[in-house]
Amino acid sequence: MSDSHKFTPLALPPKVTLADFNKFIEEIITLVGVENVDIITSKDQIDDKSYMDPTYTHDPHHVMEQDYFLASAVVAPRKVSDVQAIVRLANTLSFPLWPISIGRNSGYGGAAPRVSGSLVLNMGKNMNKILEVNVEGAYCLVEPGVTFQMLYDYLVANNLQDKLWIDTPDIGGGSVLGNTMERGVGYTPYGDHWMMHSGMEVILPNGELLRTGMGALPDPSRPETAGLKPEDQPWNKTAQLFNYGFGPYVDGIFTQSNFGIVTKLGMWLMPNPGGYQSYLVTIPREEDLKLAVDIIRPLRLNMALQNVPTIRHILMDAAVMGSKKEYTSKTEPLGEEDLDAIAKKLKLGRWNFYGALYGPEPIRNALWTAVKEAFSAIPGAQFFFPEDTPENSVLRIRHKTMQGIPTYDELKWIDWLPNGAHLFFSPIAPVQGKDAMEQYAVTKKRCHEAGLDFIGTFTIGMREMHHIVCIVFNKKDAAQKKKAHWLIKTLIDDCAAKGWGEYRTHLAVMDQIMGTYNWNDGAFLKFNELLKNAIDPNGIMAPGKSGVWPRQYQKNQWKL
Ligand code: ADP
Repeated sequence: MSDSHKFTPLALPPKVTLADFNKFIEEIITLVGVENVDIITSKDQIDDKSYMDPTYTHDPHHVMEQDYFLASAVVAPRKVSDVQAIVRLANTLSFPLWPISIGRNSGYGGAAPRVSGSLVLNMGKNMNKILEVNVEGAYCLVEPGVTFQMLYDYLVANNLQDKLWIDTPDIGGGSVLGNTMERGVGYTPYGDHWMMHSGMEVILPNGELLRTGMGALPDPSRPETAGLKPEDQPWNKTAQLFNYGFGPYVDGIFTQSNFGIVTKLGMWLMPNPGGYQSYLVTIPREEDLKLAVDIIRPLRLNMALQNVPTIRHILMDAAVMGSKKEYTSKTEPLGEEDLDAIAKKLKLGRWNFYGALYGPEPIRNALWTAVKEAFSAIPGAQFFFPEDTPENSVLRIRHKTMQGIPTYDELKWIDWLPNGAHLFFSPIAPVQGKDAMEQYAVTKKRCHEAGLDFIGTFTIGMREMHHIVCIVFNKKDAAQKKKAHWLIKTLIDDCAAKGWGEYRTHLAVMDQIMGTYNWNDGAFLKFNELLKNAIDPNGIMAPGKSGVWPRQYQKNQWKL
């Protein structure tokens, strides 16, 4: 076999020959070492694996064919200069790169690239240091491979938990940096991760290294910087304290985008509030979602609700505690009576509100009085603390999540159906009862038309709700998979027609969603394409991410 055909990946990117690929990958192997390169040459390598042992080759929750979005190779750079060298090489071939940090990105495409044959850059394998935890400033500086779990463990191991808390999403195995790049959320008062970032280090598509915000200002008090490579130089002392810096604020363009590869991120940590109490309010009737949301709005706006609380549908909680067949022999979507029976069995409401109080006891007591009084307007609402609930209750899990302790228990709802996989549909809604009811009605109806149960939660931000519909399907049932795909596509259009847009999405529907953000003749996409082509003239960086295609790709042919 000639050297130019030594490796034959299952997928090659457009216009890249096998000989080019071999030359490219040999150079990368020389650069990062063979132990940091996996070339996907056999179907045996395409294994869905599990959350705890994630795959990097494709999306384990495939809603299209398993290998529809497939890497040609997965490469783990050891350091910033490796990434820069790979980026420069990629430019010579217009070779698409797809950076990930941990690559779980569950429900949104996993580590899979939008363009098959892309090189998946596993930024997290080797670049996984917690570079700083600063107690006085209450912040940290992390590399891509730092997970929520690692950051939490670090605080515990260094006896810092009495000083600082982290914020974690529902499951703790994701990357702090990766999740923030996707504008993911958690459930403490610091739940909006993007809001809490300060200072980014980014490799641009031309290989140049950028620090944003106050990070653009060199630190004069550290003479030892002389001789250090830019990536190893200490940051300006205010870089993790003030995120805006001076001039155009560019940080946002690196999120949900394809404009750069982020190598370091500063994040604010929450000072230990000096007291904590989680609680559950059960809401017995489906239609009282309206009243609940209208009760929540003023409380959240004035921060009597201090954290990111959630209103969860009964099936979301039921699924954490058991699979569908543990509750019923039915395979069709469950009806009103079934849901009432499950709620009764679990001693939960048709909706369940999970919140928490933070601060010393007098503060918590005052807030609890306000919260309890407000929710008491809901007929039959009941109030619980964790110790009032069974050992396996969702409140006991949320008790940890809402104080930034990572957990894995909520992976369980994916097993609602056999061979369970999931896809998130996540439209934004005003914190208004009538909008919540309408969004629930539209999404539930379509779920049922697809033969699936509605499983969902409203996650309450400062002035809006991320309504997360968890589309759970049996990935070994081809017909059901098709229906799940139909469902998300239909929901995107239904919701756009009502003025609702999604905050984040799966690879398979990025184009469609970008198509809905089309005010004034698509000015938003046009501006992004202008930036894309200027910043990345060879179109190497994550082509197609969020529906933004570089000029090398005929977007009408690529659109899904
Ligand atoms: P998770 O934290 O769930 O494991 P990933 O590491 O898969 O998440 O990251 C989610 C998405 O965020 C990726 O698909 C990619 O679009 C973006 N992303 C992650 N890490 C980086 C990075 N270092 N630079 C640029 N984009 C990134």
